[in-house]
Amino acid sequence: MNFADFYQQSIDNPQTFWAKEAERIDWHKPYNEVLDYSHPPFAKWFVGGETNLCHNAVDRWLKTQSDQPALIAISTETGSEKVYSFAELHREVQRTAAIMQSLGVVKGDRVLIYMPMIAEAAFAMLACARIGAIHSVVFGGFASNSLATRIEDAKPKLIVSVDAGSRNQKRVPYKPLLDAAIELSSHKPRHVLLVDRGLHEMSRVAGRDVDYAQARQHHMDAQVPITWLASDDVSYILYTSGTTGKPKGVQRDVGGHAVALASSMKHIYCGNPGETYFSTSDIGWVVGHSYIVYGPLIAGMATIMYEGLPIYPDAGIWWSIVEKYKVTRMFTAPTAVRVLKKHPTKLMHKYDLSSLKTLYLAGEPLDETTSDWIATALGVPVIDNYWQTETGWPILTIAKGIEDLPTKLGSPGIPVYGYKVKIINESTGDLCGANEKGVVVIEGPLPPGCMQTVYGNDDRFVKTYWTRNNGTLVYSTFDWGIRDEDGYYFILGRTDDVINVAGHRLGTREIEESISSHAQVSEVAVVGVEDKLKGQVAVAFAILKNTALIDTEDKRAAMEKEIMTVVDKHLGSLARPARIHFVTMLPKTRSGKLLRRGLQAICEGRDPGDLTTIEDPASLDQIRAVLKE
Ligand code: AMP
Repeated sequence: MNFADFYQQSIDNPQTFWAKEAERIDWHKPYNEVLDYSHPPFAKWFVGGETNLCHNAVDRWLKTQSDQPALIAISTETGSEKVYSFAELHREVQRTAAIMQSLGVVKGDRVLIYMPMIAEAAFAMLACARIGAIHSVVFGGFASNSLATRIEDAKPKLIVSVDAGSRNQKRVPYKPLLDAAIELSSHKPRHVLLVDRGLHEMSRVAGRDVDYAQARQHHMDAQVPITWLASDDVSYILYTSGTTGKPKGVQRDVGGHAVALASSMKHIYCGNPGETYFSTSDIGWVVGHSYIVYGPLIAGMATIMYEGLPIYPDAGIWWSIVEKYKVTRMFTAPTAVRVLKKHPTKLMHKYDLSSLKTLYLAGEPLDETTSDWIATALGVPVIDNYWQTETGWPILTIAKGIEDLPTKLGSPGIPVYGYKVKIINESTGDLCGANEKGVVVIEGPLPPGCMQTVYGNDDRFVKTYWTRNNGTLVYSTFDWGIRDEDGYYFILGRTDDVINVAGHRLGTREIEESISSHAQVSEVAVVGVEDKLKGQVAVAFAILKNTALIDTEDKRAAMEKEIMTVVDKHLGSLARPARIHFVTMLPKTRSGKLLRRGLQAICEGRDPGDLTTIEDPASLDQIRAVLKE
């Protein structure tokens, strides 16, 4: 079909369009209304319908492919590899669901999952979905403070975790970070369910901590029926960084989410039952939710969960997985490709990659060099896709499953069906013309699968994301963009204080708060600075209370390290700034507002633009001077 017509149907007649897409999943009870947008910007999809994500991802496939692989868990960190068929996955999920029920978890309760990329993490997510509990997965790389703010907000009855993760063959204990986070949080979970991987010793709190292997033994034959959920019940919460230090809980529904994933698996990722999908993301991120756990399984595909680096034992590891499991569609981030690019392609060509049809990249802008290199090396099409935690599935891409439209280097593509994407002038709100830079917005209602609200805070959802633009409610992506004369979009970075490190989103405010907690720091500014490998890195400028503490080169280096350790401990090494520069003043406006964009521009060697409002131009000279050091 012609994509333009397909797209237009989704915009002109969303009810008919999405009713057709909704046929891709099983409904326990049919819905009576496709869309209720009577309280904008809140959109309710498939009102009155009942379904379940776990049923659609697992049980539905038992009839036709129960013995085929569903979950392939590979760890090059521990040297383990295990394939679970749909039948085995079904059994494991029921065991985990039964354990959760025995610990008092019921429909609507929150379960926080703080785990590395192991099969039990997927069992836990699917078990929640099965019994109607709301999961909130927290990325394993986050440390105590980040974890504590999420516990505080989600108020989980249960936390599922492990003794340790592992990165680059180094064990990373999770349990002490979790204990510290629970200590910090005013909310305390009733229980903590612990998978003991035998990687690191862990202490247990009597009465609270439960051993997963022992509990599992009591539920080997568990049969836990599906809890049918209303389409607009909550399936999960996933926290994401924003402009304040307090992370936002992106809340998703059940029915709209299932339909959007089933639909995108067909039209964008072109997946078929029985094939294998390999996404290298992590369950702590939205890609892991949509396209490691739920999407591929809903499409009847086997999905790979990979714990490890792309270059260990060597840079051929991913390609050996592609060969072994005949992966047809693969999904990764440009950063990973830039890492692989430093290694010889013969490590890739050692393997038979003939099963692979397409590579999808997302999470950060895809530069031409990276895209060209991987497309040539693999000899398959490379498809960029642009989206966010909030939307849960692509906003811009080329949906090859509908029409084989050409891609353009540097552009993720054109608006995906269901999304009314516009570029508007930041100050006037007027529509931008071709090649004119503006803010990327989406006219409401957002299509199925997008966030319902900010968990527990409808007001924050409305105030953060929505504005009335010439009478129409629009959702802001907080990204700058342009649209060329052919309708292709180009993303030019964030409009807010969010930075993108190796495809992971971090709030500069969170990092600033963490650095400020150091007793010697009186003020700090953190900006995202372009980096060849990671896309962006955080760079901090700190003012110390006592400059005598850094009056020698050695002392300065020691202080920099000390502050980095604080960030590691609070937020995790992901958030650690690449550099901490010490200054005595920061570039601010006369009203005291930090000139963040100017600061960032100077760090990147660009023209800082209009700085007429600056309080003291000498602050810029200082910044330039420390950058040269
Ligand atoms: P996250 O919610 O963590 O997935 O981050 C979403 C943000 O990452 C977007 O708002 C963009 O700034 C950026 N992003 C994601 N995918 C792309 C892409 N394909 N091209 C450019 N930027 C992207």
